[in-house]
Amino acid sequence: MGNAPSFLDEVNAAFDRAARLTKHDPHLLRQIRETNTVCRFTFPVRRDDGSIETIEAWRAEHSHHKLPTKGGIRYSLMVNADEVMALAALMTYKCAIVNVPFGGAKGGIRIAAHQYSPAELERITRRYTFELIRKNFIGPGVDVPAPDYGTSAREMAWIADTYTAVRGDELDALGCVTGKPVALGGIRGRAEATGRGVMYGLREACAVAEDMRALGLAPGLAGKRVVVQGLGNVGAHAARFLQQEGAVVVGVSEYDGSLARPDGLDVDALLAHRAATRTLQGFPGATFTADPRAALEEDCDILVPAALEGQITAENAPRLRARIVAEGANGPTTTEADAILQAKGVMVLPDMYLNAGGVTVSYFEWLKNLSHVRFGRMEKRFEEGAFGRLIGVVEQLTGRSVSQAERLAVTTGPDELALVNSGLEETMIGAYHEIRETRLRLGDGVDLRTAAFVSAIDKIAAIYGSMGIFP
Ligand code: NAD
Repeated sequence: MGNAPSFLDEVNAAFDRAARLTKHDPHLLRQIRETNTVCRFTFPVRRDDGSIETIEAWRAEHSHHKLPTKGGIRYSLMVNADEVMALAALMTYKCAIVNVPFGGAKGGIRIAAHQYSPAELERITRRYTFELIRKNFIGPGVDVPAPDYGTSAREMAWIADTYTAVRGDELDALGCVTGKPVALGGIRGRAEATGRGVMYGLREACAVAEDMRALGLAPGLAGKRVVVQGLGNVGAHAARFLQQEGAVVVGVSEYDGSLARPDGLDVDALLAHRAATRTLQGFPGATFTADPRAALEEDCDILVPAALEGQITAENAPRLRARIVAEGANGPTTTEADAILQAKGVMVLPDMYLNAGGVTVSYFEWLKNLSHVRFGRMEKRFEEGAFGRLIGVVEQLTGRSVSQAERLAVTTGPDELALVNSGLEETMIGAYHEIRETRLRLGDGVDLRTAAFVSAIDKIAAIYGSMGIFP
């Protein structure tokens, strides 16, 4: 990397650019920008062959202006203090943008997860959780982790089980982590929430006809050609939902290469192929290239980077052909690349808005854990009864009977998944228009990322202001 700016430098530079457009006290801006606490620790783990290895881990809590703090846990060899601090800062701004009442945090363990057996990963995850408990870096009112790169519901289950083993007498103990399996206090719709949110955000952006006209595109998602980098939790679900909305997935990439098919790939068939063979190679009817970066430069309307940070750089940005870059991953576009895309008139939907679906549904899961009741449990049958009676009145007044299909369409009460998806859709639509209107207010030349930062800074500043701090 040489003297290239670090991920945290990049996030802070974007913050500073936006901060200059606000009128807040410089000391307040510094308070908002700085990482409040960061904890680095090491612990030993016994490998299956009997050897001992020292594991290096972090948890950063960027802002305590709201509690608990919230943010995923990442397992990757790239994890370091700078990365978790950058990701924790993005979480603070992300939560503000989608009006989720948390401060930002992030954790990471520096391991290549695929090099460890499930039993080893369990020992590492449980020990990491013990360390967080001892340091007061986890708890339903303190700091609540979630899945991120290299982790999933399985790791969240180990965290929840370890926490409840130690703090089982805490009534709300299960709210110590989100992204759990449904059987262990998780919520339906969380696993696919980030990818679904990416789709809602893109759908909303593409619905604004004048913005699409400026990009030379027709309004609507239908027919838009999409490339997705990284088919993990975020990318795979985003690709599926975008296809369901009529977009055509013309290319994808994974760490071992890129796959292209201008007529469109069948995403479900491709995911099944990859699950069975562990590679993109050999998928019928598509062209495979052993270069994972090739997909980024594929001819398309929308590029969804959904792997890791620093993927779109000054080196490849001039060759990108997408008109919209939809940041599923955190920090996929470097500052230099961002400026190049701006100059090319590309619309960048920023990470801290576009991938906020995960933390939004994590918030719903946390609320479920605190309320100890599944969403929809109280009202589903009540609403079905009420709408049923209403239909009866309509039938009486009109003298006509409604069909069974019509009756079901009107009377089916909301279950947990329907309510979660509805809350997520509302959040992504509302937040998009908030940042778009901020951009219009700020005037020409301001991009959506800067507008999103300004929106987040204003909201956090208002909290300090309401306490009489930095009025
Ligand atoms: P994941 O581990 O489920 O998936 C990441 C995928 O990217 C893996 O399949 C990996 O093989 C692939 N990959 C790695 N390097 C690649 C490369 N060079 N080219 C192509 N593919 C590559 O992780 P995830 O949870 O989907 O997270 C991906 C990104 O989204 C991260 O930046 C993460 O911080 C962000 N994010 C995740 C969530 C969430 O809910 N999981 C929420 C918000 C943001």
